[in-house]
Amino acid sequence: MSLNMLMDAIDGKKLMCPLCKKPVQKYEKFVEMTNNVWDGAGDSNRNEGTVGSKVTLICGNDKCDWRERTEYWKNYIE
Ligand SMILES: [Zn+2]
Repeated sequence: MSLNMLMDAIDGKKLMCPLCKKPVQKYEKFVEMTNNVWDGAGDSNRNEGTVGSKVTLICGNDKCDWRERTEYWKNYIE
């Protein structure tokens, strides 16, 4: 589900590179994280199936080599 959101954002050019302010072109190594590997600093509210995801975003626009491995990729969606 998160992956669909990510793909939609990239396809729709809504996921913006923070450096050049153009749409991010590519991503790689998307992983869903389960509670088992989520080190949410002991937050007990995360006990019922809350998951995150992590992805490497690659800008891919001319003259911009921004890339970032992040759990917070939703922050880049406008
Ligand atoms: Zn860029």
